[in-house]
Amino acid sequence: MNTHPEVVAAAIDAFREAGADVAVGESPITGVAALEALEISGITAVAESRNCPLIDMDVLKHETVEIPDGIAIKSLKVCREIVEFDIIVSIPVMKTHMHTGVTLSIKNMKGCLWRRSKVELHMLPKLDGYQEKPLDIAIADMSSVLRPHLSIIDGTIGMEGLGPSAGNPKPLGVVLVGVDAFAADSLACGLMGISADNIPHLRIGAERGYGITDLDRIDIQPQNWKDVRDPFAPPPDKLSIEFAGFQILDQQSCSACQSTLLMFLRKYGKQLREAMPDDQDIIIAIGKGHKELPPGTLCVGNCTAKHRNSCLFVSGCPPVASEILAMFNL
Ligand code: SF4
Repeated sequence: MNTHPEVVAAAIDAFREAGADVAVGESPITGVAALEALEISGITAVAESRNCPLIDMDVLKHETVEIPDGIAIKSLKVCREIVEFDIIVSIPVMKTHMHTGVTLSIKNMKGCLWRRSKVELHMLPKLDGYQEKPLDIAIADMSSVLRPHLSIIDGTIGMEGLGPSAGNPKPLGVVLVGVDAFAADSLACGLMGISADNIPHLRIGAERGYGITDLDRIDIQPQNWKDVRDPFAPPPDKLSIEFAGFQILDQQSCSACQSTLLMFLRKYGKQLREAMPDDQDIIIAIGKGHKELPPGTLCVGNCTAKHRNSCLFVSGCPPVASEILAMFNL
């Protein structure tokens, strides 16, 4: 799920050798503490052994960056470090993504959006006259002002299927580096057996001239790169099929709650189903768009808090799976 620490370690070493002062920064998904995540993922260990500072980028006050060409968004709150450091390097894992097709070095820059502001990109209304989802357009908008200077895409072990957090490991043994983030992402797509033309945020960004996605126009070394191509399983179209006995009501949730719910159902769904009467579905609601909910609905996440008096409510943004289970005293 996270960038392999050895890839981060190699990047620190390489930039040090080139004479740079290096720091590793992160603004994680809502509900996760950056320094805890870096510790658990093994990145703290490789950074500390090199005396490389770790930065929780949500601590300082944000900078507002205007997006003159923005269609879905006109400004962004970015972490202060993004404007203070000379060079920003995006080091994502090579993954498929249930909402955006893939998540690579362009999409990874959402990790530079300040605190909860990154959630706002998932909550945008549909745009009149556009086929694409507002999230895809917003990521292309973001890439007009927030592109990494260098992309290092970690395909040592990627993730296929239901990424970004509930997919399956995909060992590929590849690390890919490029100065044009769109070109790097497009090549990663090529390795994953996906055309960048089918990834809306890459297609829109390339059409606007933010980078190149046509593999025939990219100087790729080594030239036999296709030898390591290994198609990734795409994210499934529907998420609910395998969870019989549950009814999920989703109105304007973001991927954090969707992933949490999926992991909860995978881990505890059977246990919960067996503990409840057979003849009725367990109803779970996520997202902020519900006007009314059936009494007894399990409301997951702060977005559903307005129903807390008539429903079972689990707070958090997102909550963790074990907190959801705790509501049932199992
Ligand atoms: S409560 Fe859930 S859906 Fe709402 S913003 Fe938080 S993570 Fe997203």
